[in-house]
Amino acid sequence: MDEIHITGLEVYAHHGVFPEETRLGQKFVVDARLALSLREAGQIDDLTKSVNYGEVSHFITAFLTEHTYQLIEAAAEQLARALLLKYELAETVTLTLHKPEAPIGLPIADVAVRITRGWHEAYIAFGSNMGDRRAYIEQGIRELGEQQDCRVLAISDYIETEPYGGVEQDDFLNGCLKLQTLLTPQELLERLHEIEAHAGRTRDVHWGPRTLDLDILLYDDLVYASEHLTIPHIDMQNRMFVLEPLAQIAPYVYHPVLHRSVRELKEALER
Ligand code: ATP
Ligand code: CA
Ligand code: CA
Repeated sequence: MDEIHITGLEVYAHHGVFPEETRLGQKFVVDARLALSLREAGQIDDLTKSVNYGEVSHFITAFLTEHTYQLIEAAAEQLARALLLKYELAETVTLTLHKPEAPIGLPIADVAVRITRGWHEAYIAFGSNMGDRRAYIEQGIRELGEQQDCRVLAISDYIETEPYGGVEQDDFLNGCLKLQTLLTPQELLERLHEIEAHAGRTRDVHWGPRTLDLDILLYDDLVYASEHLTIPHIDMQNRMFVLEPLAQIAPYVYHPVLHRSVRELKEALER
């Protein structure tokens, strides 16, 4: 991925744990790297296809001057988020925030934190089989889209499906959506659980009736498993109610463990 680098931007600001630091302030130095495609800007020589590094530098200066954090970790985290929300072309931001005059009582040349943050692409399955199913799903999607750090980019049709897993219950309405998010997988799962709870979801019977179920199917090409979260979703390849809507919005997306596209997984399950 192409990058724009800003190096050695000096900002006088008031971040620190000690009262003198927040009162008097000190010098901070920022290195910023924005990853984005520069191909089009380079070919047609047009700034609107790139990110204006002068503007970014002023944005960083204003942000660090107008906010006060105890930790440079927090200053860097919030600044990276603000940059990603403001400059839509930037896919990732790497920030190094230096604090060369950090008052530690020893002659150090510099101390710094470096973080990389960016947009991730996730696919979410949704389902409901209680009450006004369509309304629960629509409310959930709306709530997800209203989060600053989530953008809903595509939504499949809602399909009517028979229950899965052997529990006697009403039919489901199912579908999938494509999400761009700044959240980590764990944070995303927590956010989905909150949205389920707002829809009145309770967990009584596993695979039982629910107002709203939101599962993470894929997250970039991540392969991850823990007690609380498995990505890709462990059973997606066996569920037509997942593969059918997913194939509408992401037929060529690759399953990073099975090494098959969504369309191929769907065709395999149809056989
Ligand atoms: P299934 O996951 O088989 O569709 P379910 O959706 O009915 O079953 P829930 O009761 O909604 O199951 O969730 C049980 C737990 O599954 C969640 O609390 C969560 O910790 C865990 N889980 C593991 N992997 C995922 C994932 N990829 N997406 C959502 N939840 C997951
Ligand atoms: Ca589920
Ligand atoms: Ca679930």
